[in-house]
Amino acid sequence: MLTQVADGVWVRQSEWVWSNAIAVRGECGLILVDPGIAGSDLNELADDLDRLGIPAVAGFSTHPHWDHLLWHSRFGEVPRYATHAGARAAREARERARAMAAQSASGVPLELIGHVTPIPGGGGPVPGEIVEHQAHAVGHAALLLADRRVLLAGDMLSDVLIPLLDSRRPGQVDAYAAALDRLGEAAAHVDVLVPGHGAVAEGPEVASRLAADRAYIDALRRGGDPVDARLGPDADWLAGPHRSNVEQARRAATASRE
Ligand SMILES: [Zn+2]
Repeated sequence: MLTQVADGVWVRQSEWVWSNAIAVRGECGLILVDPGIAGSDLNELADDLDRLGIPAVAGFSTHPHWDHLLWHSRFGEVPRYATHAGARAAREARERARAMAAQSASGVPLELIGHVTPIPGGGGPVPGEIVEHQAHAVGHAALLLADRRVLLAGDMLSDVLIPLLDSRRPGQVDAYAAALDRLGEAAAHVDVLVPGHGAVAEGPEVASRLAADRAYIDALRRGGDPVDARLGPDADWLAGPHRSNVEQARRAATASRE
C-alpha cells in the first residue's frame, strides 16, 4: 500500500528490514527511488503505481547496496540513475548484489539488479537536489525535495538501523560525522524525512533522528561503546554491525596516535 507523505511523494514499506520504496512525482512522471524488495513487493508496488495512473519515467538508487538496486519489468525500461561513484560501484558489485538478493529475498528479478547510470548534470528527470556524501556506501546520496519539504535519506537517519559504517573504507567515523552535518543542513529545509529503512519521521522527529545518529557517532569517536535504543534486545541482528563499527573506530583511533 502506498502512503502519501507529502505533495507528490508516496512511500511503500516492505516487511524485509522495513524497507521504503518511494515514488516522487516529477515534471514528466514518477521517479522511483530504491524500489524493493521481494518480487511480491515489487509487483504490489507496480499495482499501486497503476492505480496512481502516473507512469514511471526514471529510477534513482541512493547507494550501491543490493536492496537499493532493484527493479521490475512492470516499472518499464526507463533510465535508472545513481551518483557517478554509485553507478561505478554498482557495476563492479553487480554479481555480488545478485547473489545477496537471491539469498535474502524471493522472486527478485535478478537480471534487472544494478543497471544504473550516472545522473546527468542538473538531475535530468530527477527533481530536487542530490546530497552526496562519503558515509555508509560509496556514492551514497540523499535527495532533498525542498519545494515539498521532504528529504529522502537512503540508509541514514533510520529509527531501526544504527549508523552502519562502510567497513571497506578507512576514515568512516569522520566521514559519517561530515555526512550528518550535510544532512543536518538539508534537514533544516524539511518537515518530512523518509529513511531507506524504518518509519517516516515528521516535524520535530526529524531533528531527533539526526541527534540519535550524532550521539552514536560521537560515542564512537570518543572511543566508547555507544548506548543506543536501536540496539535493544529485539535487535541482536544489529550486534554484528555494531561490534564492527566499534572495532573500526578503535583501529582508526590507534592509527591516528601512531
Ligand atoms: Zn538498505
